[in-house]
Parts: sequence; C-alpha cells; structure tokens
Amino acid sequence: QLAGKRAIVTGSNSGIGLGIAWELARAGAEVVLNSYTDDADDHALAEKIAQETGARVRYIHADMSKVDQCRGLIEQAEGCDILVNNAGIQHVAKLEDFPADTWDAIIAINMSSAFHTSAAALPGMYAKGWGRIVNIASAHGLTASPYKSAYVTAKHGVVGLTKTTALEAAGKGVTCNAICPGYVLTPIVEKQIPDQMKTHGMDRETVIKEVMLARQPSGEFATVEQVGGTAVFLCSDAAAQITGTTISVDGGWTAL
Ligand code: NAD
Repeated sequence: QLAGKRAIVTGSNSGIGLGIAWELARAGAEVVLNSYTDDADDHALAEKIAQETGARVRYIHADMSKVDQCRGLIEQAEGCDILVNNAGIQHVAKLEDFPADTWDAIIAINMSSAFHTSAAALPGMYAKGWGRIVNIASAHGLTASPYKSAYVTAKHGVVGLTKTTALEAAGKGVTCNAICPGYVLTPIVEKQIPDQMKTHGMDRETVIKEVMLARQPSGEFATVEQVGGTAVFLCSDAAAQITGTTISVDGGWTAL
C-alpha cells in the first residue's frame, strides 16, 4: 500500500510513535525512527521492525527541542514522503507553579518542532507532487483539562498549524491532518499517574478510573495500534481529499 514511500516519525522509540512506525512498516513504507538518544536499543528497535516487516527501517537521533536538529533530521533522511510529528512531553502542575523552562520545552517539542520539520519536508513533497503530514495532537488540542497549561496550549497550536499547512499545500498532492488521541496507556501517561495521585489525593486505580477514563466514555484506553492504523489510513489514497482536519481516537471524549 505504501511501498516506495519514506516515512519519518519523530519521537518513535516508544509509545504511540513506535506504534505508528510499526503500522507504516507493515503497510510497506520505509521508516525512519527518531528520538534524542543514540543508544544501541534505539538501533536494535529499527532492526527488529525491519526484520519482522521486511521494510527498510533506520534510526536517526535528533533532539526535537532544537531548531537545527529538527531540520537536520529531514536532511539526514534524504527524502520524506510521509512526516509524522509525534514527539511530545507532558508536565502536570498548577499554572501559578508551572516552571517556565518546562513551559518552553513543551512548546518547543510538542508544537514548534512540527513547524520546523514540516518547513524542511514540504519543498521535497511539492517537488514530487505527493506528501502526507500527520500531526499527533490530542483530545487536549480540542478541549482543556486543569494543570496542563503548556500541553493544552501546544496541542491547540498543532491543530492550528495543521489547518494552515493544509491550506498552503492544497492542490499540490500534499495533505496535512491531525490525529487527536484520548488516553493511550504509554509511558507519558504512566508518568502522569503519580502526579495526578498527588494533585487529586487519590490512589492509582481511582486516578485511572475517575480522572483519566472519566473523560473517555468508552471506559477504555485507545491503543497505539489504533492510532497507527489511523495514520496509515491518512496516508492512503482514500484519504487524498481529507486535509486540514482532526480525527479523534478518543472513545468519545470530545463528543461529550
Ligand atoms: P511516550 O513518552 O511514550 O513517547 C514520546 C516520544 O517522544 C518518545 O519516543 C520520546 O523519546 C520522544 N521525545 C521526547 N522528547 C523528545 C525530544 N526532545 N526529541 C525527540 N524525541 C523526543 O508518549 P506517547 O504517549 O507515545 O506520546 C506520543 C505523542 O502522542 C505525544 O505528542 C503525546 O502528546 C501524544 N498523545 C499521547 C496521548 C496518550 O494518552 N498517551 C494522548 C494524546 C496525545
């Protein structure tokens, strides 16, 4: 389905990005994995996906908080047909206690990196007359929760960037859309549980049931495979006229 297409997935040595990388490789795309580390484990992950899917898979380290490294990732990959902007971090704190440097890091990694990688990838996509940009926003790109000021701000920004990119790319064979997952049980969510326990004064099970999944009417976490499958769909011919929009994978959260 995606044979001959080269996909770059930022922040893909874990969680949703890794799930998307697996699904793109299963669909026949060549895949570039990324994170800021350069460990043997990172390269082993690329090898494992390559072996199991038969796709060409490489790992390129680049820190998505740094402008030059965002742009450098696209250059080093030597071509990008599919760009998935997925790298992201989270911090949970009251607005008045929110550390300024953490705010800056979340805005840089969760939002600005998508601008820098897209700016670097678009000229090549335009030249080929084909391209797909998939931005991983969040239910928090459409709605807010307390104690997540930087994250909610960055994800709303990603949705705005998605619409603008789509308009500029329209008619050039290039689409740009955002996937808005609800809660997916990945390390970023796992790490929030102790903070939420502290903030709300609840135990782990109560936080999961009454804070996290309370907003998700299905009562279930979404899976990385489901988000990956949605990304593959957005790269398919069936989605060629889907652009500038958001697709929620949130068990009904944003329908509430
Ligand atoms: P995760 O922590 O498992 O993955 C985050 C990825 O980003 C990791 O691969 C990490 O190495 C990478 N990363 C972090 N800082 C980076 C940097 N400076 N440079 C390059 N890579 C960096 O979390 P996840 O849940 O898989 O999150 C992936 C994306 O999905 C994020 O953008 C997140 O906001 C979004 N999201 C997650 C959920 C959820 O419930 N898990 C819901 C909605 C949206």
